[in-house]
Amino acid sequence: MPEVSTDSDTADCLFCRIIAGEIPGDFVHQDQRLVAFRDIAPKAPFHVLVAPREHQPHAAASAAADPTIVGELVTAADVVARAEGYDDYRLIFNTGADAGQTVFHTHLHVLAGKLMGEGFA
Ligand code: 5GP
Ligand code: ZN
Repeated sequence: MPEVSTDSDTADCLFCRIIAGEIPGDFVHQDQRLVAFRDIAPKAPFHVLVAPREHQPHAAASAAADPTIVGELVTAADVVARAEGYDDYRLIFNTGADAGQTVFHTHLHVLAGKLMGEGFA
């Protein structure tokens, strides 16, 4: 299996800059551990990214560095989806470029508001 690409670190990481307020983000939730903000190119009527404040390149690295954080991301995803009336939603972690990851700061996609069926392609 190819190694997961980590072509950005905190200094030049887009999501670190959004979290730091250097680049605008449409935040729907923030706490000491994580933030949630709307995706700039939504793939569904509701498309929010939930990201830990701590920079790690992907979800498994976050889980290794901070064993409770991935559960916290999932809980926050549920809160922000339900806050806008979505009880049903899809959660996605893309890990590695071949899986579609383009921003190498851990983030959980929360998608809702359209019928998504059973496919994943
Ligand atoms: P990935 O492809 O890494 O899983 O997801 C990255 C997501 O970040 C994409 O859905 C993309 O639309 C979103 N994105 C890229 N640049 C920005 C930005 O500057 N602001 C926001 N809010 N989302 C972004
Ligand atoms: Zn980062």
